[in-house]
Amino acid sequence: MEKCLFCEIAEKRIESKIVYEDEKVIAFKDIHPQAPVHILIIPRRHISGVTSVEEGDRELVGHMFVVSQQIAKDFSVYQCGFRLVVNSGPDAGQAVGHLHMHLLGGRTLKWPPG
Ligand code: 5GP
Ligand code: ZN
Repeated sequence: MEKCLFCEIAEKRIESKIVYEDEKVIAFKDIHPQAPVHILIIPRRHISGVTSVEEGDRELVGHMFVVSQQIAKDFSVYQCGFRLVVNSGPDAGQAVGHLHMHLLGGRTLKWPPG
């Protein structure tokens, strides 16, 4: 079983500021926040990224979106708006090879992204 930085965070061997967790996913504050609210939502199980998501992961990936709603409410950005980002591969700047959804908010976010 492949292990990585975010596996270590999910298993609490590396410290992080956890804001939500359940049996399937864990969410924690990004170490280099790009907005006043910047949370990473990850599956506990190692999936290396979008291109490794399989049919059997449908429920898990859907659950990540449902969890994002709760986190947006908890950080008071549900009404004013927030952005979910999943980077895939080098051109998108994916730096960690464990599927993660960024939840960004708390300021006006520009579009298109850089
Ligand atoms: P990516 O560029 O792969 O989409 O996003 C990786 C994110 O993980 C970056 O925003 C980066 O700041 C964050 N990150 C990298 N290492 C750590 C860490 O050890 N702890 C936390 N909380 N975030 C991290
Ligand atoms: Zn991992």
